[in-house]
Amino acid sequence: MTEPVLSTFQMIIDGKLVDSVEQEWIAVENPAVKTPFARVPRARSADVSIAVAAARTAFRTWSRMPAGERGRLLHRIADALEKEVEPMARAISTENGNALRTQSRAEAASAVEIFRYVAGLARELKGKTASLNPDTLDYTRREPYGVVGAIVPWNAPLILSALKIAPALMTGNTLVLKVSEEAPLAVLHLSRICNEHLPAGVLNVLTGYGTECGAALVEHPDVPKISFTGSTAVGRSILAAASQRIAAVTLELGGKSAQVVFPDVDHGFVADGVITAMRFSRQGQSCTAGSRLFVHESIADAFLDTLTGKLRKMVVGNPVDETSDAGSLVNARQFGRVCDYVREAIDRKPDALVMGGLPPTSGPLSEGYFFEPTVFFNLPDDVRMTREEVFGPVLSVSTWKTEAEVIERANASQYGLAAFVWSRAGAPAMRLAHALEVGWVLVNQGGGQAIGHSYGGMKQSGAGREFSLEGILESYTDIKQVSVSLGDHGFARL
Ligand code: NAD
Repeated sequence: MTEPVLSTFQMIIDGKLVDSVEQEWIAVENPAVKTPFARVPRARSADVSIAVAAARTAFRTWSRMPAGERGRLLHRIADALEKEVEPMARAISTENGNALRTQSRAEAASAVEIFRYVAGLARELKGKTASLNPDTLDYTRREPYGVVGAIVPWNAPLILSALKIAPALMTGNTLVLKVSEEAPLAVLHLSRICNEHLPAGVLNVLTGYGTECGAALVEHPDVPKISFTGSTAVGRSILAAASQRIAAVTLELGGKSAQVVFPDVDHGFVADGVITAMRFSRQGQSCTAGSRLFVHESIADAFLDTLTGKLRKMVVGNPVDETSDAGSLVNARQFGRVCDYVREAIDRKPDALVMGGLPPTSGPLSEGYFFEPTVFFNLPDDVRMTREEVFGPVLSVSTWKTEAEVIERANASQYGLAAFVWSRAGAPAMRLAHALEVGWVLVNQGGGQAIGHSYGGMKQSGAGREFSLEGILESYTDIKQVSVSLGDHGFARL
């Protein structure tokens, strides 16, 4: 059999497109056809050192550029990116399997808006003054850290990278970004455009494996700040590594978000919302996915009928086909993981499977890592998928009787990223919104994350916030207190 011809892409260091020092490569697969189609450099610690050195040099001038000018450059980048939405969207769909029509176009367009929003905040880099003593001037400055090391996953590669690039640069830092080995191409495309407008070394992008390239970035002594988005398990290891040199860390991690449906709801409206919240059209591969659905016992059967009726109409197929609502899972490993969770649940309680299940082994859907929407009802609590993040289109439904009980069960999770409440009555919905231990509660909406929202996790879903103005300032700047004596013996008298 002949080997497929792979298109070659390079990383970006110091404004130049480069291979890795070792001249090794990682193949990038199209998961909808299970075939590699591109290759990117396999960066290791030597490449990390070169990129960090370039970013350190660039920091000297970038951090001294007036904030408004940095904002202007980010605006220019947004204008340039706007023209590239379609190719960036197609790159995402081809590398991670997300459907072009329902997911990737919106993702690429959002990346542009993230640059615009952050560009406009550039003049908000403000400290505070404190009136503590009439004879001193006490004020704080928001200062950039220096070189930020950022690491992103594959599931929404462009948005998550834009959410690190724009804030880190706007606040005066320079960046070394490690993209996911599973989905590097759309981010490389975006970063090449960024580099056309930035001084060399301000934005450096590495492709490589987590344990070789990501870990070296986290351990690098000249990287005072790490911003990580990915799984809770890797987040834990990053926190441990950063603790050795007391680097600042922000973590955006995994989730197992609850959805609570009250008995008074409109079934059709809420079923649509539950499907959005579960991110079925992203194959459930979203940190925010509302994968634990608690439906009031008085409506469970009728609601489940409405929900599954809608899910059966979803079109799963080739991600770049305009008729597909959902594409494929990202790779064989993820496909195998989701299958394991589903197999365990079916073995444990076969009649809990309401729809979906293990994917077909023949026919068009077996040609890629496709997985149809899958729903289980009333699985025993000790089945792993009821507690662990599956990261697939698999929803676990159970019933509830009282508000106190559903709050306790929804909160019985190591995760605390998001929750969804569906109710026509205001007071119970708001009581739940306040009682749920999560970073984001959505009431009567399944999506709707807006640029500028505060976003992040409680418990083991993360530490810190990055997305809003407050989050950006907290995540990407350090605070310096300046205290100046106004007494006669200090400054020379005029
Ligand atoms: P992952 O943790 O396996 O990998 C994320 C990134 O970390 C990749 O670039 C990977 O190469 C790198 N990495 C892996 N091991 C590393 C190590 N030892 N040191 C440094 N870097 C390392 O996650 P994934 O499978 O790419 O993405 C899915 C996960 O990301 C899910 O858990 C999901 O919930 C989470 N996620 C969270 C958010 C959020 O905002 N909270 C957003 C998207 C995804």
